[in-house]
Amino acid sequence: MELEGKVAVVTGAAQGIGRAIAEVLAEAGADIAVVDLDVSRALETVTTITKSGRRSLAVKANVAEWADVKGMVDQVVAELGRIDILVNNAGITRDGLLLRMKEEDWNLVLDVNLKGTFHGTKAVLPVLIKQRCGAIVNIASVVGVMGNVGQANYAASKAAVIGLTKAVAREYASRGVTVNAVAPGFIDTAMTHGLAGEAREALLKQIPLGRLGTPDDVAQAVRFLVSPAAAYITGHVLHVNGGMLMG
Ligand code: NAP
Repeated sequence: MELEGKVAVVTGAAQGIGRAIAEVLAEAGADIAVVDLDVSRALETVTTITKSGRRSLAVKANVAEWADVKGMVDQVVAELGRIDILVNNAGITRDGLLLRMKEEDWNLVLDVNLKGTFHGTKAVLPVLIKQRCGAIVNIASVVGVMGNVGQANYAASKAAVIGLTKAVAREYASRGVTVNAVAPGFIDTAMTHGLAGEAREALLKQIPLGRLGTPDDVAQAVRFLVSPAAAYITGHVLHVNGGMLMG
C-alpha cells in the first residue's frame, strides 16, 4: 500500500485508461477524485473504489475550461483534504486527413488534450508546491512521437504534452514535484474500438508483443511513476506500447 494516505486526481476516469488508473491507484492505497464530463459514469468508478475501502469523489468538469478545473481542485481539497497526485488523462480524437480537417476539430483536440493538461497542472501545482511534494503524470501517446496518418491534430497535441511535461518538470523539481509522461501505444478502449478487420491486423503486425495493450498495462506504469520507487525520475516519457516504438 505504497500510496496510503495520498489523494490522487484522475481526469477522464469514467471509463477506459483513466478508470483503470483510478482503480489501480486506489488498490495502492490512494483516495481518488474521479473527474469526467459524464458524472453518472464517473460514479460507477467511485462505487468500485469505495467498495475496495478507499474514499472517492466524482467531480463533473470539462478539462478544457479553466473555471471547471479550478473549481474541481478546490472541491477535492475541501472534501478529501489534500492532493498528492495528478493524472492528466482526459483526451479525445477527431481524426481526418489534414486537408479535410475542420478548424473546429483541430481546436477541440488541442483544447482538451493540451490545454486540459495545462489547466490541470496549473490548478494542482500550488497545492503540491505548498506540501513540497507531489507527482504529476500526463498521458501522451506513441502517436505524439511517431505521427499517424489522419491524426495531425492528435499527434500535435500529444507531442506538445511531452514538451509541456519536460518544461514543468524542470520548473518545479526544486519544489519536490515530479512531472512525467506515459506514452501508450494502441490500447483496447472505446478510442480504438473503431479499428477493425484489415486495419487491426496491419496494426498488430507492427507490435512485437502481438496484441493491443490493456488499460491495466498503462495504469501499472502510472502507479510506478507516482510511487516512492520513482522518486528520482522526472521529465521522463515512459513508453507502454508492446515494443511498437523503441528508443
Ligand atoms: P476513452 O475511453 O475515450 O476515455 C476518455 C475519457 O475522458 C472519457 O470518459 C471521456 O468522457 C473523458 N473526457 C473526454 N473529454 C473530456 C473533457 N473535456 N473533460 C473531462 N473528461 C473528458 O479514451 P482512452 O482510450 O481511455 O484514453 C485515455 C487517454 O489515453 C487519452 O488521453 C488518450 O489520448 C490516451 N491514449 C489512448 C490510447 C488508446 O489506444 N486508447 C493510446 C494512447 C494514448 P466522455 O466519454 O463523456 O467524452
